[in-house]
Amino acid sequence: MNTTAYRYPNEILILTGTLFLVFAVILLTSTATFCLSGIFIVFFFAMAYFSVRSHHRALMQHGYRVTHQNAPKLAEILDDAANRLKVEPVEVYVIRSNALNAYTFGISTPKVIVITDSLLKVLDADELQYVIGHEMGHVKLGHTWLNSIIGGMAGIPSPYLAFAVLHLAFRSWNRACEFSADRAGILANGNPRKAITALIKIGSGGRARTDAELARAYAALDAQDDTLAGNLGELLGTHPLMIKRIEKIKGYAGSKQYRDLISQIR
Ligand SMILES: [Zn+2]
Repeated sequence: MNTTAYRYPNEILILTGTLFLVFAVILLTSTATFCLSGIFIVFFFAMAYFSVRSHHRALMQHGYRVTHQNAPKLAEILDDAANRLKVEPVEVYVIRSNALNAYTFGISTPKVIVITDSLLKVLDADELQYVIGHEMGHVKLGHTWLNSIIGGMAGIPSPYLAFAVLHLAFRSWNRACEFSADRAGILANGNPRKAITALIKIGSGGRARTDAELARAYAALDAQDDTLAGNLGELLGTHPLMIKRIEKIKGYAGSKQYRDLISQIR
């Protein structure tokens, strides 16, 4: 006996139709998601463009643009760093803030670098040249505009788990960018030791000044990667732990690539 001969005649037909429908729905929804993602990225990029413009306008009102007339020493540091890194012309602004911070933004040229006046008070010339070189490294490597596009992609509305994965991946790229920019920083100032003291001073909130204070602040930074909170904070943050940046700077400063590049820059 054919053991399945009693199958109801329409069963296979209905199965075929059902499978066809399943694939059609998958195709339709994935095409819709794909198109929506494209629209979302364009929308996000446009938003980023306009927020950059208004940010720029606010800076011009609340900060000052560095020139050879109003800040000759700082302007010289900027020129030297830009020459060494062969970076496109950038606009540098100083803003009043208690934060020890520097950042860069911009989609179109010229990109903008912002430094707080507190940072100018805490760091010496070589340390500043590292910080400025770091920001110029972000500009040179395209991190400023890539950040707007990739940030937009990572922000695509997606199911919770997918959103978390995208977000973590984006953050890990952010942290890799910081290591690259730190390399640019020590190529710009030619003095890795001063890059490290700059990071320790920033990490200590500007309180560490003397050698003894710097050593104590370094020990405190060194303890951060021993704690769960420190490591978790890093995983979710845009910046690696200070101590990891310092270790990477030390490693790169001892590399053949650094020696080769610095000999071409000098
Ligand atoms: Zn950075």
